[in-house]
Amino acid sequence: MTAGLVPSHLFYQSRLRRPTIARAEGVYIWDVEGRRYLDGSSGAMVSNIGHSNPRVLEAMREQMNRATFGYRLHFENEPAEQLASVIADLCPGDLDRVFFVSGGSEATETAIKLARSHKLAVGETTRWKVISRAPSYHGCTLGALAVSSYDPLTEPFAPMMREMPKVPAPRCYLDRDGLDPEQAGLRYAEMLRDRILAEGPESVLAFMMEPVGGATTGALVAPDSYYRRTREICDEFGILLIYDEVMTGVGRTGRFLAAEHWDAMPDIVALAKGFGAGYAPLGAVVAPQRIIEPVLDAGGFAHGFTYAGNPLACAAGLAVTREIVAHDLMGNTARIGDLLKAGMEGLMARFPFIGDVRGKGLLLAFELVADRQTMAPLPAHLDAYVRLVDIAYERGLIIYSRRTRGGREGDHFMVCPPMISDENHVDEILGKLTESLQVLEAQLNL
Ligand code: PLP
Repeated sequence: MTAGLVPSHLFYQSRLRRPTIARAEGVYIWDVEGRRYLDGSSGAMVSNIGHSNPRVLEAMREQMNRATFGYRLHFENEPAEQLASVIADLCPGDLDRVFFVSGGSEATETAIKLARSHKLAVGETTRWKVISRAPSYHGCTLGALAVSSYDPLTEPFAPMMREMPKVPAPRCYLDRDGLDPEQAGLRYAEMLRDRILAEGPESVLAFMMEPVGGATTGALVAPDSYYRRTREICDEFGILLIYDEVMTGVGRTGRFLAAEHWDAMPDIVALAKGFGAGYAPLGAVVAPQRIIEPVLDAGGFAHGFTYAGNPLACAAGLAVTREIVAHDLMGNTARIGDLLKAGMEGLMARFPFIGDVRGKGLLLAFELVADRQTMAPLPAHLDAYVRLVDIAYERGLIIYSRRTRGGREGDHFMVCPPMISDENHVDEILGKLTESLQVLEAQLNL
């Protein structure tokens, strides 16, 4: 790292100095010393269609030769208009109006501000609280942090934020009280209802959640009953349901939106990560006309970023989404995801310290514990979540990990290779994971 570059705190997690990237192609990345890594987490669940896709690069080159910027108050641009129409077609139900941003934190903040603008426009001016889940991560800007619950990132800035109410994330796999999963899902949903009543329903604007958990809950999937009931509860009190699909959206779970796995549609969706897929910073908020129209009638959405709808970023996003559709990458994700998940579940027989395997499509994770019966976490001082990532890294496999401090959960690891992965990549991932878990087992005497 050069003297001028400021690293983020995450850099300090690892004991290894990270190498410099030389090139990347498909599911692989090479460093400047020629070592090859399988990108088993698509970076931070971003490089969904793999690296250096020639058609995406060509589309970007073509756009670069035309125009890389036209300020949105001065010009419309074709890539943005085409991309909005493709997204409207790919999104389910009435989700057909698209507001572009440049990343995930911008997307979640925009979703919150759109919700508030909508409620103001329809005269429900007392609503401002956004209930979200603990733990959760919705971005690192102050507004997005206020609806997040992840101590290492939220605590230092707590005095600067108006902290929003939280309800427990539905980590039913930790509850060992004999409830069947559907009942357990309902119990977590009722916690939302209780919290709304405690806050005063007329003060609550929205409920925001990741339909499949990201980094803080490690690919958490709730029982079906949870999705249905949280939708009903939001409807009961006129509260908007926002899905943060920054990580899950654009095909990562095998459907364009993860919301499509359940019969409960959100009112507003935030997208990013796999939308630009590592080719360009790109995000979006998608909402139905019934949400947008009152805002426009009341004078417009008082919000927007300089780079929003940037023609180069949108040309990249358009080529990425076309690639996903043309090569049925969502179908591939569902198929290869099932195979990889079955392989990870198979590892549980060999390694008793794997407590849980979960996720959907190619948004998968496993969790290490001290005791599978009680799900007691490994002692924090072992730093398993850092060690295993480093061990795998040295063997040419990149995975992504977190330990959410203050929670009951253990160390979890996201295994989320690009949506173009095939059977051979699954074999390579499982082989390297097995080897890495053996080394960890020996190092920590597990
Ligand atoms: N929301 C979720 C679910 C995320 O996983 C992330 C990033 O990890 C964000 C929002 C923030 O996205 P960005 O880092 O692009 O601002």
